[in-house]
Amino acid sequence: MKNKICLALDVDTIEEATRLAKRLSKWVGIFKIGSHLFATGQGKKIIDAIHGAGSEVFLDLKWHDIPNTVVNAAKVATSMGIYMMNVHALGGSNMMKTVTNSVTEVAKRNGQRKPILIAITVLTSMSEEDLKNDLLINCSVTKYVEHLALMTKNSGFDGVVCSPKEISTIKQTCGTDFLAVTPGIRPTWMVKKDDQKRVTTPKQAIDNGADFIVVGRPILNSESPEKAAEMLLSEIS
Ligand code: C5P
Repeated sequence: MKNKICLALDVDTIEEATRLAKRLSKWVGIFKIGSHLFATGQGKKIIDAIHGAGSEVFLDLKWHDIPNTVVNAAKVATSMGIYMMNVHALGGSNMMKTVTNSVTEVAKRNGQRKPILIAITVLTSMSEEDLKNDLLINCSVTKYVEHLALMTKNSGFDGVVCSPKEISTIKQTCGTDFLAVTPGIRPTWMVKKDDQKRVTTPKQAIDNGADFIVVGRPILNSESPEKAAEMLLSEIS
């Protein structure tokens, strides 16, 4: 079960990230490197450190750009042996199809495994109100997520990032093999939702069919990250 837990290494330094990856690898199988850590300019170093410690890397840079730019970034990440990477589905099906083809080709040429390709549907920090008021999207979050998920699947991607609340709809529409990666995880022992709006507990997410859960602050901000990681793993096991 630890390979279903992905810890968001949203910290300031490579030292802190490496220390956490070492301390928590007993309960966490995948470590997520996002914009926060990447912005330190030490992206490659931390990827190598996590690989060196025997864990997997989810590169969460949420690319949202024209096909050519995203493809070039995705090719570099593929060559680095990344386990999972993501783009915004709102970048469109042309971009995602080009990424699928290029990444598959690069992995084959290098004799590497193909990274798991995931697209963000609607950020879990956004509510239906935000969709309506900020983006002028006048349908329910679930309906919109379902549409983006199907487009993602038809572009050859392996799955989506979504709220645990949307998993069953996505699996019904896209099939059970289509992966659901879910942030917005808040255990009952953490009352604060922070900026997340569409949340569930780790157990609810797994019961709903999540293939991977992404957790940051419930572990990072805990007095004992080890204890928090252990509690989380035992909750879903
Ligand atoms: O601290 P918390 O558990 O809220 O962290 C969630 C992590 O998942 C963050 O690194 C955030 O960037 C990422 N994420 C998210 N919502 C998405 C996609 C990724 O919260 N839709």
